[in-house]
Amino acid sequence: MTSTQDQDFDYAIVGGGAAGTILAIRLLQDAPKDARIALIEAGELGRGVAYGSDNPAHVLNVPAGGMSMFAERPNDFVDFLINRDGGADPAAFMPRRDYAAYLAQRLSEARTASQAQFLQLRSHVLRVMPQGDDDGVALTLTLADGSQHRAKRVALTPGNRPRKTPFDNDGDPRVLSAWDHAGLEQLRRDDQVVVVGSGLSMVDVVLGLQARGHQGGITVVSRHGLLPLPHAAKKQAVDVDIASFAAQGLRQRVRTLRTIARRLDAQDQPWQSLMDALRHHVRELWQSLSDVDQRRFLRHVVRYWDVHRHRIPREVSTRLRSLQESGALQVIPGRVKAAMGRQDHLSIEVAQRLIGSEILQADWVVNATGIETRALHFPNPMLQQLLEDGHARPGPHGLGIDTNEAGDVIDASGATSARLAAIGSLRLGNLWETTAVPDLREDAARLAKRWLFQA
Ligand SMILES: Cc1cc2nc3c(=O)[nH]c(=O)nc-3n(C[C@H](O)[C@H](O)[C@H](O)COP(=O)(O)OP(=O)(O)OC[C@H]3O[C@@H](n4cnc5c(N)ncnc54)[C@H](O)[C@@H]3O)c2cc1C
Repeated sequence: MTSTQDQDFDYAIVGGGAAGTILAIRLLQDAPKDARIALIEAGELGRGVAYGSDNPAHVLNVPAGGMSMFAERPNDFVDFLINRDGGADPAAFMPRRDYAAYLAQRLSEARTASQAQFLQLRSHVLRVMPQGDDDGVALTLTLADGSQHRAKRVALTPGNRPRKTPFDNDGDPRVLSAWDHAGLEQLRRDDQVVVVGSGLSMVDVVLGLQARGHQGGITVVSRHGLLPLPHAAKKQAVDVDIASFAAQGLRQRVRTLRTIARRLDAQDQPWQSLMDALRHHVRELWQSLSDVDQRRFLRHVVRYWDVHRHRIPREVSTRLRSLQESGALQVIPGRVKAAMGRQDHLSIEVAQRLIGSEILQADWVVNATGIETRALHFPNPMLQQLLEDGHARPGPHGLGIDTNEAGDVIDASGATSARLAAIGSLRLGNLWETTAVPDLREDAARLAKRWLFQA
């Protein structure tokens, strides 16, 4: 059921990507009969930046067996695939659109099974305003369709938004976003393309072009020129003493990791096992760094962390390497300062360390610099309003918004809201590891329990 009439809700969820959908399912599972739940999303449910691509070349970066939305049913995504396709390989990297279908299917089932009332509002939330608490309905939501709704509790799950193009470009239409799938369809096979950024969205762009039979040169420019590393061929358990590792400062931790990785290499074991051993302790490891060390991490270590942590399937890595070897893909360490339109091409100024400025020419430039994490730059009116009105404040180091351990939003005066909570990328500064499905499912389950059972 969808509706634009003004209504009152017990729970309103702003953003129907993976986080919002999983939270809605958790609330539907346990909410009492008279509970009213709204999920507000302008687009299609489950199809945020990550799972909105229809390109089958855009695959999940985690095997199917690791993508269940329920911690207590770790095979659930695989079961969904088996039910749909008649079979599934838990080790396979499935197209990301399959995950959106999975989210939609499980939400539909939860709605049918639930005794609570559920409404999906198809619009964008422009404003969330805390009101007086007198009648127990404490927040007003203003939507882009002109409707206004009230809710006792609101979860912010607005997820990922691409970072604005970080170089001068005079708004030239030949400068595209990595997530502008329709825009990327305009590229002709022989076009020369410069991709700015070398992370997972660059991988999407290159795979998407390759799937369309692209023949022109692709040049990737990024500050460090580091590409995501592959998953290991085999899994191997590694013991890391997390308590003593967490007691170390950043420099010492980097040394420890290098030592363990060298030891693993000497024993012919994959270094990836070390990252897997740290995976479930990342929040603790982030929070146990001093403020100064967190800053140092963001300045000097994060690029190296990202390529080791956010890995890609081995086949994808092999394909990228062979494109590099054939010269079809070039990777240049440097910073794009400007991409200026000339009549028949773009002229791209790249600043390189030691070498100075170099001018590249291309038919298209694709901004693949990733998602916006800095609160003050969020391209989201609702979040800007919350910050401007002091109902939220930037998180540590300006990343995301500030929340307490449970996910409740902290306002500009330092007070914690009992009614406004966040899940997902908004909590980056507090938790560091907060957007992947294992984190979302845990945080969503915990928030639903707390809201439903701790009045
Ligand atoms: C390219 C990419 C690939 C990824 N692959 C994986 C993977 O394979 N495995 C994994 O575990 N993680 C992956 N991730 C991590 C990923 O961030 C999460 O799994 C997931 O997308 C996060 O879901 P989310 O709901 O927080 O955000 P999103 O998926 O971005 O959804 C947020 C939703 O909120 C809506 N919204 C925003 N503001 C408003 C508003 N004001 N009003 C109404 N609606 C609003 C948006 O329209 C959007 O639909 C990937 C991330 C990216 C960027």
